[in-house]
Amino acid sequence: MSKGQINKQRFEGKTAIVTGAGSGIGRATAIKLAQQGANVALFDLKDERSLETEAEVNSIREGAARAFDVDTSNAERVEKAVLETVELFGGIDIVFANAGINGVLSPIEDLKLEDWQQTINVNLNGTFLTVKYTIPHLKKNGGSVIITSSINGNRTFSSFGMSAYSTSKAGQVAFAKMAALELAKFKIRVNVICPGAIATNIDQSTEKTDQLKDIVIPMEFPEGRQPLKHAPGQPEHVADLVVFLASTEASHITGTEMFIDGAESLLC
Ligand code: NAD
Repeated sequence: MSKGQINKQRFEGKTAIVTGAGSGIGRATAIKLAQQGANVALFDLKDERSLETEAEVNSIREGAARAFDVDTSNAERVEKAVLETVELFGGIDIVFANAGINGVLSPIEDLKLEDWQQTINVNLNGTFLTVKYTIPHLKKNGGSVIITSSINGNRTFSSFGMSAYSTSKAGQVAFAKMAALELAKFKIRVNVICPGAIATNIDQSTEKTDQLKDIVIPMEFPEGRQPLKHAPGQPEHVADLVVFLASTEASHITGTEMFIDGAESLLC
C-alpha cells in the first residue's frame, strides 16, 4: 500500500506488540501499524532507538505507542511487558515476533557454545516466549501472529558461518506451523515471513570470527544477488507484508511461510 492509500481505520481499536521495534523491520512495521489505527507496544532493548520509534509513532497519533525495555529471551521481562501492555491498551490483537540477531559467524568447530546459545536464545527462545505469553490475551478475540524468520535456514544455506542463525530461523518456521494448528480453534492465525537481504542495522549484531574465511566457498553474482531489483529490500517492503498478514484481508491465511526477497533465495 502506498503512502497515499493509508487506511487510518484498518486497525482502529487494535493493539499490536512489535518486538525489535527500535530498528529496521520492526520499526517500519510499528509505524505502518500505527498509521493505520493500531496502538503499538514496542518491545526492544531500551536504547535511544526504541525511544525514537516511540516518539515517531506518537507524532502520528499521541498515545499510540509505548516503548518497553524487554530482552525477548528473558521470560520474566516478556511476561511483565505483555501484562503491562494489556493494562495500558486493554488487550492484544496482533503480535509481530521479530527481534533477532545475526550473532557470531564462525565455522562450527570453532563456535563457542555460549555464542551458539546466544543466537538461539534471542531468535528462537525469544519467539517462543513472545508467543507463549501473548496467547492468553489473543484467545479472547482471536488475532494474528507474524514471526520473522529468514531465507537462511529455509531456502538458503550458503551464508557461511551462520549455522546457529540458520538453525534458529528454520526452527521458527516449524514453530509457526505447530502454533498455527494449535491455535486455529481460537481464531489465532500464525504466519512466518522469510526476508532476503533488507537494508537495516542487522550488521551491528553480527560478529565475524577470523576463522570464517576458512569455510567460505566463493560465489559470484556479477549482476547482484537480487534478480528483481538488483538491490536489497527496504524495511517498508517487509512492513507492508506484515500489515497485510495482520489484517482481515489475510483472514484465511495461517500456517504459511512467505518469502520476501526479490527472488534472491532462488538464485543461491
Ligand atoms: P535490526 O538490527 O535493524 O533490528 C533488530 C532489532 O531487534 C534491534 O532494534 C535490536 O535492538 C532488537 N533486538 C535484538 N536482540 C533483542 C532482544 N534480545 N530483545 C529485544 N530486542 C532485541 O535488524 P532487522 O533486519 O530489522 O531484523 C529484524 C528481524 O529480521 C530479525 O529477526 C532478523 O533475523 C530478520 N531478518 C533480517 C534480514 C535482513 O537482511 N535485515 C533478513 C532476514 C531476516
